[in-house]
Amino acid sequence: MTFQDLHLIEPIQRALKTAGYQKPTPIQAQSIPLALQGRDLLACAQTGTGKTAAFALPILQLLNDQQPGSNRRRSVQALVLAPTRELAIQIGESFDAYGKHLKLRHTVIFGGVSQNAQTRQLQSGVDILVATPGRLLDLINQGYVSLDQIEFFVLDEADRMLDMGFIHDVKRVIRKLPQKRQTFFFSATMPSDIVKLSAEILDRPAKVQVDPVSSTAERVEQSVYFVPKKQKRKLLLHLLRHEDISEALVFTRTKHGANRVAKDLTKSGIRAEAIHGNKSQNARQLALKNFKDRHTRVLVATDIAARGIDIDELSHVINFDLPNISETYVHRIGRTGRAGASGIALSFCDTEERPYLRDIQKLTGLRIPIVDGHPFTAEDEDSQPAPQPAAPARQERRNGNGNGNRNGNNRSRKRGNKNRRSGSKAPGDNRR
Ligand code: ADP
Ligand code: MG
Repeated sequence: MTFQDLHLIEPIQRALKTAGYQKPTPIQAQSIPLALQGRDLLACAQTGTGKTAAFALPILQLLNDQQPGSNRRRSVQALVLAPTRELAIQIGESFDAYGKHLKLRHTVIFGGVSQNAQTRQLQSGVDILVATPGRLLDLINQGYVSLDQIEFFVLDEADRMLDMGFIHDVKRVIRKLPQKRQTFFFSATMPSDIVKLSAEILDRPAKVQVDPVSSTAERVEQSVYFVPKKQKRKLLLHLLRHEDISEALVFTRTKHGANRVAKDLTKSGIRAEAIHGNKSQNARQLALKNFKDRHTRVLVATDIAARGIDIDELSHVINFDLPNISETYVHRIGRTGRAGASGIALSFCDTEERPYLRDIQKLTGLRIPIVDGHPFTAEDEDSQPAPQPAAPARQERRNGNGNGNRNGNNRSRKRGNKNRRSGSKAPGDNRR
């Protein structure tokens, strides 16, 4: 299957070539023909499967087909709703890339920044609007946006939108849309409230589903480190110094934790920054850019801040804390191994997080291999990276909760030896 087989027009195909896309991903191959036929879509696909192009390409093509010329009075004809600013910006960048040879205009609006630049853009006329719900409603109420001419409506990451409490804002937006329109509904998961919402806003949709949870997880090479909570920061530093990790997206549970980890790494000479909801929009964008440009090696993020972030060739995801919701684990590790590439995910698991690990393994149907012989298995915060070989074995018995996670792993017996080996390496962050 090629993009040509999908009957995409030449200027779009040329743009895709420039973007380095050789062939459509499965969600694109399924969605694009249906969308071009005018169908509503209900699409269920994991992060990293190429959903943006699945809706952006047909919208660009259909709008382009009906444009009489660039001198017409522009009105917003396509609206894409996204849950976060970062995601909205990335969708905007995708429209930029895919539509670079077309005469359509788009803009992105989101909260947390002054509205002036956004309203200027809107007043100069746009065809496609990418927005977060709050700012959109705000600008509609101020009269800067009208949704009367909308022909295409996309709800991206619908499940996340609901998780983040945007359901009422989303419904308010939907009530302002014309009845006659084409709607694309994208969600990684389909809990009952999502199914209900989709039924309310879609008209005889074609259902598209690819890449169930487990296959995202299968692409990524995963391992877990059992480590006491207090030792996690030392373990992270150790791994960044001794393992071949060119860049890592590190997840923490809290904003506070993200800051602390980033500060800690920076103090140890590893370039790191944190992004989370408390930071200003500009600070977040800058941190993301620094990471993409490889000025920083580690980006520490909370789940909400990292949602939808797309970084090409991200080699490692590190779960500094395990999430209590198993799907979140899959979302996180989906940041690496994108669009079919393989990636590596490392997870730290303390005693309290063992049940989370069990849930994750249940969801993905995978047993995540345990890394033995790392130096930070003892509770004692002052322990040095070369403990007695016997110490970790004791630790293991003490922590053993009989949940069977370890049973498939016969490397544990060698743990003491490996301890000594990794502990004896000279420290130094010499990778970049
Ligand atoms: P999702 O919205 O499903 O998380 P994205 O649309 O953000 O996925 O795409 C994930 C990554 O895959 C992006 O880097 C994007 O540029 C890339 N990508 C999308 N489609 C293709 C394709 N057909 N070929 C190669 N890369 C692709
Ligand atoms: Mg997406």
